[in-house]
Amino acid sequence: TLTKTDVLAWLKRVAEVIAENKEYLTQLDAAIGDADHGINMDRGFQRVMSQLPTVEDKDIGTILKTTGMALLSSVGGAGGPLYGTFFMRMGMAVAGKEELSPEEVLTMLKAGLDGVVQRGKAEVGDKTMVDTLTPAIRTLEDALAAGHQFDDALDRMVAAAEEGMKATIPLVARKGRASYLGQRSAGHQDPGATSSYLILATLRDTFK
Ligand code: ADP
Ligand code: MG
Ligand code: MG
Repeated sequence: TLTKTDVLAWLKRVAEVIAENKEYLTQLDAAIGDADHGINMDRGFQRVMSQLPTVEDKDIGTILKTTGMALLSSVGGAGGPLYGTFFMRMGMAVAGKEELSPEEVLTMLKAGLDGVVQRGKAEVGDKTMVDTLTPAIRTLEDALAAGHQFDDALDRMVAAAEEGMKATIPLVARKGRASYLGQRSAGHQDPGATSSYLILATLRDTFK
């Protein structure tokens, strides 16, 4: 089970991890974008941290929807609407809940990913955050269906996320700013795939 306390701890830890990786994410974006991904994400999660106290007493759905709205209104660029949608859709999928079963965590993540795909229209292989999120969430689904314990299933999810993130290195970008570079985008890890990995790895670490 993932409790409301776990969800709050996850979001706080994401804010810390994004701050710790601000330079790294920005360097990745400098290679194939406009060198702002770490700055954008850090600004967004600082905003989330300032908003969380107003909803800490509310249900998990409200907490995640508030997170999404804070990101939407502060991140900007491509990442803002996409991560805003990711967290808002997750929140809508678990509206009113005070704790989540492993299956509900899966449903929540799937809803977030569906929102990202609807909004950004990226497919696996386009060199975006979808390259991390899609295999990770599919792996979580398969692991739970196969009867693995939740913590083991989360480990498998994070391993798939890491693999998906690294698999963006050789790819030529077909979505977002990096796609303007064409072939020159190959050989660099995608910044959004990297921030998505950090968000999922932090979920696993928080739960442990
Ligand atoms: P911007 O490109 O506007 O400066 P960011 O640097 O914050 O925005 O975010 C860039 C990241 O957004 C990329 O690394 C990629 O993972 C992700 N991204 C861009 N376009 C899309 C899309 N259409 N679908 C999914 N993710 C995308
Ligand atoms: Mg950028
Ligand atoms: Mg930008």
